[in-house]
Amino acid sequence: MSKICVIGTGYVGLVTGTCFADMGNDVTCVDIVEEKIARLKRGEVPIYEPGLAEMIARNVRAGRLHFTTSYREGLADSEFIFIAVNTPTGSTQGSADMRYVEMAARMIAEELDHYAVIINKSTVPVGSGDVVTRIIRTHLARPDVSFAVVSNPEFLREGAAIQDFLNPDRVVLGSSDMEAAHRVAALYLPLRAPIIMTDIYTAEMIKYASNAFLATKISFINEIAQICERLGADVKEVAVGMGYDKRIGRAFLDAGLGYGGSCFPKDVRALAHMADEAGLHPQLLHAVMEINQDQRRLVVDKLVSILGSLRNATIGILGLAFKANTDDMREAPSLDIIRWVTGQGALVRAYDPVARETARQAMEREGIRLDLVTFCSNAYEVAEQADAIIIVTDWNEFKSLDMVQIRNLMRRPVLIDGRNIYEPREMVSLGFTYRGIGRGTGP
Ligand code: NAD
Repeated sequence: MSKICVIGTGYVGLVTGTCFADMGNDVTCVDIVEEKIARLKRGEVPIYEPGLAEMIARNVRAGRLHFTTSYREGLADSEFIFIAVNTPTGSTQGSADMRYVEMAARMIAEELDHYAVIINKSTVPVGSGDVVTRIIRTHLARPDVSFAVVSNPEFLREGAAIQDFLNPDRVVLGSSDMEAAHRVAALYLPLRAPIIMTDIYTAEMIKYASNAFLATKISFINEIAQICERLGADVKEVAVGMGYDKRIGRAFLDAGLGYGGSCFPKDVRALAHMADEAGLHPQLLHAVMEINQDQRRLVVDKLVSILGSLRNATIGILGLAFKANTDDMREAPSLDIIRWVTGQGALVRAYDPVARETARQAMEREGIRLDLVTFCSNAYEVAEQADAIIIVTDWNEFKSLDMVQIRNLMRRPVLIDGRNIYEPREMVSLGFTYRGIGRGTGP
């Protein structure tokens, strides 16, 4: 059993803290947002993540998981301090905003009164380990205290975060202090995952390179989709045919609206920025971002090409979260799509199984006119008097809708399937004007 402090109770911090507690450690999670901690203390979970609420409750009951806004309380006797705060895009050039990591480092320094290993789990630009070390050294309230810094990027996916944390493909640890890295490795030993020990810069880069590669796969298949559509091939079958090749793999070859969320967009941007800053010309990364943005426009173009003008049209939106099984709205394609269609005079009827509240807040933040958006309580309500429906998120519950009922409820049976969850021929036979992404129907 180790004593662990986790700074930041977002998707990564809360899952990390809870899973380490579940593995038998004594964990205190710290956040600066009082309301978040108050809710956690009341037994509420501020984010939607399957299985997390039950796991938190179990570990709180067992006395292994605690929440506080006090760094002093969180750090007390902690051998390991994980930094898991947000690193959003910070400038128009795309660099990562390090202000939360820097703040966390300073606050740790001000309270640290014993040796501890400080582990950076946030995704941070190459070289940030040095920055964190410098900040802590400069602000140590007790300059006699020693510490080590280890980089330990996280690879979990929202929506499957617990499963991913407990079954990682690998654990990456970077440090110049191998003894400290080995101590962190010991925390992960029960997971029986391959552990990669490297230097801190390389560990930080492994995270960016991994996310950029996955984003590249998505943009690659989206480019292939556009070619398929023009030439009559079906990208869904192309992806299956490619995916059986072990050198390629089927994952992340789903053509559609492109990637969104709190990681891929900002991480590809930040990596491109790092390269730009270093005097390089990261043309592949720029193409990946451009293709991704085009995919979102494409569905609106398809809509306009069918409906003509969108003025006074009612557009149904199925799914708001950036992907299924999460309530996260950061950089969700739905936001761009809703902004564009309302901008052209359309009304929107929208439904998401869990992201209704986070979507409302995100739209407000982004200046989307909420008076043009009606939030519905299921897909059938969305269909009522709609001139078209766009499937934006591939939630399971959208995969087996009664499409005859959906069609009958609509004013015009236009279906834009931004996630390719329905079969074109079947939808056409039901009377829909159907458009998927890259789904040519052969000769
Ligand atoms: P998040 O925005 O959900 O959570 C961050 C939390 O940190 C918030 O609760 C915020 O209040 C808190 N915080 C900010 N500054 C703080 C401070 N100084 N002290 C204490 N708490 C503070 O972010 P997230 O999605 O959990 O991501 C965290 C990091 O992990 C990011 O760098 C991200 O790139 C990386 N990451 C995220 C995912 C993911 O799927 N979300 C996956 C892998 C890696």
